[in-house]
Amino acid sequence: MSRSLFISDLHLSAERPDTSEQFFRFLGDEARRAQALYILGDLFEYWAGDDELTDRAGDPLAREVASGLKSLSEAGVEIRVMHGNRDFLIAEGFFSASGAGFLEDPTVIQVRGKAIALMHGDTLCTDDHDYQNWRRTARSAEWQKDFLSKSLSERHAAIQGLREKSKEVIAAKPAEIMDVNQDAVREAFRRHNVRRMIHGHTHRPARHEHEVDGHACERWVLPDWYGRGGYLALDEVGPRLVSF
Ligand code: MN
Repeated sequence: MSRSLFISDLHLSAERPDTSEQFFRFLGDEARRAQALYILGDLFEYWAGDDELTDRAGDPLAREVASGLKSLSEAGVEIRVMHGNRDFLIAEGFFSASGAGFLEDPTVIQVRGKAIALMHGDTLCTDDHDYQNWRRTARSAEWQKDFLSKSLSERHAAIQGLREKSKEVIAAKPAEIMDVNQDAVREAFRRHNVRRMIHGHTHRPARHEHEVDGHACERWVLPDWYGRGGYLALDEVGPRLVSF
C-alpha cells in the first residue's frame, strides 16, 4: 500500500515550540508510516539562507528540523520540499543536510495513473498585486545575491523588519484579495492538464470543486499549523484531509 502525505505552512519558528513539537511527533509517527512526504512550502516561518545550519548566529531549530527529516529519509521515506513565500532561500545546504529533494513549484506528479498538480499556492493569488511584485523581486537572482551577501545577523534583522511591515499591510487588506483568484485556478488546471490540484498558502483548508472546460476538477487546500495543524493523506482510498 502506497501512502503519500502532503503538508505546508507549518511556519516553524522558535517562537512557537508547540508547533515544532507537533512536527517532530508527526515525523516519528504518521510520516514514518508513509512512503512519501511532500512539503509544499513555508515549512519555516522564514529561511535567511542555508548558513542557518552552520553559522553561530543560526537558528538551532533549523538544525533540529534538518536532522529530523534526515532520520525520516534514512528510514526510507521519500521527502520533497517546495519553496514557499517565506522559505524560498532554502538551497543545496538544506537539501543535503535533510536528505530531502527539491520540488519545483509547480510540479505535476502521477499517482496511480492520475496527474496531480502540486504548488505552494501564492502564484494563484493574482489579485494581490503588491505581493506579486514583491515575489518577482525576491525570486530574482540579483536580489538574492545581494541579500545573501549580508551577514546572517543582518539578514535576520532585515527579515524582522519585513515581517513587521507585512503584518501592517496584511491587516489593511480585504481577505478576498489574499485568497486565490478563480481565473488563475482554472488557468492552472488547463496549463497542467490535470483534474486534481493540491496547494497551501491561503490557510483555508478545504476541498473545492471546479468545472473547467466541462471537466469536474478538485482542488485541495492544506491547513496551516498555527492552530491544530494537519495533513492531506493520499492512498488507494483517495485524498483526505486529517486534522491533529
Ligand atoms: Mn505561504
